[in-house]
Amino acid sequence: MTEDHDDRQMNEFGFETRSIHAGAAPDPATGARNTPIYQTTSYVFDDVDHAASLFNLQTFGFIYSRLTNPTVAVLEERVASLEGGRAACAAGSGHAAQFLAFFSLLSPGDEFLVSKNLYGGSITQLGVSFKRLGWNAIFVDGTDPENFRRAMTPGCKAIFLEPLANPGGVVIDVETVAAIAHEAGIPLICDNTMATPYLWQPIQWGADIVIHSTTKFLSGHGTSMGGVVVESGKFDWNQNDKFPTMTQPDPAYHGLTFYETFGDFGFTMKARAVALRDFGPAMAPMNAFMTITGIETLPLRMDRHVANAQKVAEFLEDHPAVDWVSYAGLSSSPYRDLAEKYLPKGAGSVFTFGLKGGFDAGVRFVEACQLLSHLANVGDTRSLILHPASTTHRQLTDDQREAAGAGPEVMRISVGLETADDIIRDLDQALCA
Ligand SMILES: *Cc1c(COP(=O)(O)O)cnc(C)c1O
Repeated sequence: MTEDHDDRQMNEFGFETRSIHAGAAPDPATGARNTPIYQTTSYVFDDVDHAASLFNLQTFGFIYSRLTNPTVAVLEERVASLEGGRAACAAGSGHAAQFLAFFSLLSPGDEFLVSKNLYGGSITQLGVSFKRLGWNAIFVDGTDPENFRRAMTPGCKAIFLEPLANPGGVVIDVETVAAIAHEAGIPLICDNTMATPYLWQPIQWGADIVIHSTTKFLSGHGTSMGGVVVESGKFDWNQNDKFPTMTQPDPAYHGLTFYETFGDFGFTMKARAVALRDFGPAMAPMNAFMTITGIETLPLRMDRHVANAQKVAEFLEDHPAVDWVSYAGLSSSPYRDLAEKYLPKGAGSVFTFGLKGGFDAGVRFVEACQLLSHLANVGDTRSLILHPASTTHRQLTDDQREAAGAGPEVMRISVGLETADDIIRDLDQALCA
């Protein structure tokens, strides 16, 4: 489904149909109905002219799997379709996808605004490691959109946030933040890992670039690392002089100007032909295969994840050992109205709750869980439990932990697809331990 004609037809199908079919077609060589795992590094050229036009980006095709691979290409087209985007570029992990996106936008000395409510690993990647490349993150409290306007600087090149934030329970007003970004002439980048495009499509609300850790709900079974960058195709990179990486000839690509040459998928081409080519965090074909197979059941899985999460959140809210529950599906949540607007199918299945006994109670509780696995992942078929303060968020300062919603008493749960009563029973015995 690579021709425009087929694309138009595909985008008229419903979400469930596209979860199964977008980007894929029977294998032309063998008729194989499932997408083959093209476990190859390289591809034979027709002749010297064909090779030259591929290298010049004049013809689309396959050269080398660091750049493109047919199995990975199916995943890219599928996620672009589900997010309502124009094009996508996959990467070896969610963090690699974030690197590709920021490298394609920023130059040393540039600044960008970041919502504090983030996955712990992203706080460190953006706030510490990116700084060494001269990319300066300015953290703001994203729960009030006006904070982005107040923190805006002339050298600011992007806003980055998680619409439904990890560790959980926080919903950001994406439509308002997008308007603030666009007033400043900069793109809004959303990490949509926690909501998935089934629950929320940020591009519909003005986001320009969407990033996923496909490691989580998209692959869905805790088997395969991966990431993807999706571009809306709607951002005008020429509206100001802030984006020379898009609008000026690129010395890393024999003077090609990516926006002029590729238009509404220029950002994806830049991410692939420069960032992926030169830094190399490509997704393995096997992981792309596992992820496209996972996406086929994304709508079914998300409905069950959300239903189980709602039951578990209501159980926890009534439990005497639990101080508070931060789940946007509860009527007690301050994000309930935003969740009704942006997440009508449910507020995801990753959220946090606080134990009355603080840090020590948190450590005892995770060790007493039996059905729930104590580990650092989310979006698995299995229910997962984590004490962020002693694990994922331990590198942060106390202030950063509090700001990220990961204080000493906080537990993070990723509600899986088991029988809801079994999850609840395990939590109950661990809370009583
Ligand atoms: C896991 C995660 C990441 C990082 O993705 P990896 O695939 O682990 O590199 C980024 N953002 C969010 C919200 C995540 O949950």
